[in-house]
Amino acid sequence: MKLAKRIGMIKPSPTLAITAKAESLRAEGRDIIGFGAGEPDFDTPANVKAAAVKAIDQGFTKYTPVGGTNDLKDAIIGKLERDNGLAYKRNQIVVSCGAKHTLYNLAQVLFEEGDEVIIPAPYWVSYPDIVILTGAKPVIVETKEEDGFKLRPEALKAAITKKTKAVVINSPSNPTGAAYTKAELDKLAEIIVPAGIIAISDDIYEKIIYDGFSFADIAQASEEMKKLTVVVNGVSKAYAMTGWRIGYAAGPEEIIAAISKIQSQNTSNPTSIAQKAAEEALKGDQQIVSVMVAEFNKRRNFIAAALNAMPGVSCLNPQGAFYVFPNVSGLFGKSFGGKVIRGSGDLAGFLLEEANIAVVAGEAFGSDRHIRLSYATSMAKIEEGMKRMTAALSKLA
Ligand SMILES: *Cc1c(COP(=O)(O)O)cnc(C)c1O
Repeated sequence: MKLAKRIGMIKPSPTLAITAKAESLRAEGRDIIGFGAGEPDFDTPANVKAAAVKAIDQGFTKYTPVGGTNDLKDAIIGKLERDNGLAYKRNQIVVSCGAKHTLYNLAQVLFEEGDEVIIPAPYWVSYPDIVILTGAKPVIVETKEEDGFKLRPEALKAAITKKTKAVVINSPSNPTGAAYTKAELDKLAEIIVPAGIIAISDDIYEKIIYDGFSFADIAQASEEMKKLTVVVNGVSKAYAMTGWRIGYAAGPEEIIAAISKIQSQNTSNPTSIAQKAAEEALKGDQQIVSVMVAEFNKRRNFIAAALNAMPGVSCLNPQGAFYVFPNVSGLFGKSFGGKVIRGSGDLAGFLLEEANIAVVAGEAFGSDRHIRLSYATSMAKIEEGMKRMTAALSKLA
């Protein structure tokens, strides 16, 4: 059968693929420790689950308005005001089936052939493909490790052309954990506002930050910047709700209305029950988030130190999210059993074979000198995984 051309232009999500590969090796009886997963290992909080059960019991199981219920929109408006000092009206909010769906819809309403979209690298794997599916061109701008993997204003300025439609900002970042300060975002806004391009701010890791870091969104820079910003967020990462599929966008009315329109012709509303659960997550006790973050913090400190102790590996201690992104280029050129490690894919393959640990090759995120490990897994597994990795790397010569 001949499929549409567009399907050959994208790749399946490599992070989901490594999780599936680890799963199939486990099914064969191999004891694989997975560092691939991009989701919290904690259970969804009890109050959130209870809200969903209540919704089912009360028969809240029918279609809702396409862009989400007014109650959930109000909870989102309350959250953006409380946490971010950003004021929005209901017609500036749309709820979708996860932040990924929000980003997909957003790209569909904004981009078309001839447009360019700036994506700083290392980037979340889905951004380029979501852009490609619209016919627009992803323009990848490399960031430097010595800049903490953050986009410099000069680099942004140099990448902007007449065709540039938008820039994607993901802070804290998946995969690097890099997070921008308010001052850094203000500097980027000074480039973005005169250029009149859209900033897509993916704030999904907003709550997962360390060492007293203060989260900022670029929309806070000025009223003009806010008019050009679409804030994308959701409940998946902060509230351990990846399976519930609730994400949202806040931004200019015209863009939000267009997202609702396109959503009315694809998924219609996100799941009614999940909307009730998300409302509780946003309005209920926020203490649970700090408990999860404290646990992530312990693991972060441990795994970064363990990686830095390995010869040929160096790792920045990330400011947010639940990933480390060590530089492994010091291992390139070494070999095992006649096989030379030439890049991140070779190393990930070697670690899966020799250490029984699953990591994601950095090439999937736009950097072949790194690998990504998620520490959203138990401390016991992290300790054992780091032991295995140390032992396996010592076999390289
Ligand atoms: C996980 C993730 C998302 C998508 O989250 P949803 O589960 O679809 O809400 C979006 N952006 C980044 C950077 C992510 O890591």
